[in-house]
Amino acid sequence: MKGLVYGGPGKIELKDIPKPVIEKPTDARVKIIKTTICGTYLGILHGKTPSCKHGTTMGHKVVGVIEEVGKGVRNFNKGDHVIISCITSDGTCEYCKKQMYSHCEDGG
Ligand SMILES: [Zn+2]
Repeated sequence: MKGLVYGGPGKIELKDIPKPVIEKPTDARVKIIKTTICGTYLGILHGKTPSCKHGTTMGHKVVGVIEEVGKGVRNFNKGDHVIISCITSDGTCEYCKKQMYSHCEDGG
């Protein structure tokens, strides 16, 4: 598959990347129908976000169709149409229980 990959300040490239796999029981693999980049990436491209590692696949606001779910996924199934938020959360940690999803211990 193709991905827009960050290669350091000022460098992005459309590259062949491996198809994602289910790594954790709560993972889902989604076939992306539409995605975009956002203003966050302008800062990354200007080298203002050192936590973004070289090789990061960009595009974190997505609509798509679920292709596969892990055994721990309860509320979604293969074939469901979904919107993926730019903030991921597990819904179970103390931060999620306080609705502070961007601080999720298994997301963010
Ligand atoms: Zn959480």
